[in-house]
Amino acid sequence: MERFEKMENIKHKISWSIGAVLCAIFYYCGIIWVYTFVQKRILKKSRTVVLMYHRVGDDIAKDSEITVSNANFDEQMKFLKNKFKVIDLDSLIDGIGKESDSLSASIAITFDDGYKDNYENAYPILRKYQLPAAIFLVSRLIGNNGEILNLEEINIMKDNNIDFGSHTLSHKILADIGIDDARKEVTSSKVELAQLLDREIKYFAYPKGKKRHFNEQVKLAVKEAGYKAAFSTENGEITRGCDVFELKRIGMRNYPLFVFKVRLSGIFESKLFYFVRKKLKLT
Ligand SMILES: [Zn+2]
Repeated sequence: MERFEKMENIKHKISWSIGAVLCAIFYYCGIIWVYTFVQKRILKKSRTVVLMYHRVGDDIAKDSEITVSNANFDEQMKFLKNKFKVIDLDSLIDGIGKESDSLSASIAITFDDGYKDNYENAYPILRKYQLPAAIFLVSRLIGNNGEILNLEEINIMKDNNIDFGSHTLSHKILADIGIDDARKEVTSSKVELAQLLDREIKYFAYPKGKKRHFNEQVKLAVKEAGYKAAFSTENGEITRGCDVFELKRIGMRNYPLFVFKVRLSGIFESKLFYFVRKKLKLT
């Protein structure tokens, strides 16, 4: 298992290094401009994407895989504010079932785990640009140590455009524990968070969130618990008619703005690109 995880990490690193080089080529050779022009103006396609963040702050080295610096996050939010319709999760989920074009070129912003820096660093920037976001909380970790949001911080944000969802009771990998324990993680966290926040908890995010970290039984438990939708960490965009209990997101890292723009263009989610990644076994 440990060896498998190591191999996965190496693959992940190679894939990201290739990705960074490709981003530079796509951006600085103008490929991204052509791609966006063709998608938008000729094919009339627009994308709906859910961004997934974890931490925002300047101590990148501490958690380099999942931290975005304050300056990069500010630039990214400014870009979203100017170029996209940023929507909350209610609008996103309501839009998926509708025939109309209500979802076109929309972005939703999410954070997993409920780190304290979401309040200290991300929230002031979100406020500055008046952008909605959602944070998925691990209910039994709230206020537990200096790293995780406390209830006071959560309450301030919940009245100011930040929604909260469940990320289980204790961040266990739901496919690895028995279904009874998984059901408890899913159901009890919803109840506990609703009591703590005095608000209905409508959305769920699977811990770790790749396909292998949850299964059909777990998905059914999430539905039966009364959630309206659930998010994975599988890479991809929101499409009409997609499974709302397995919504894909695009994971955010400490990208400079040009990489962010390339990620948002959708070129990495195009069919051709999936084919290449599959062939190189980098998916
Ligand atoms: Zn998590």
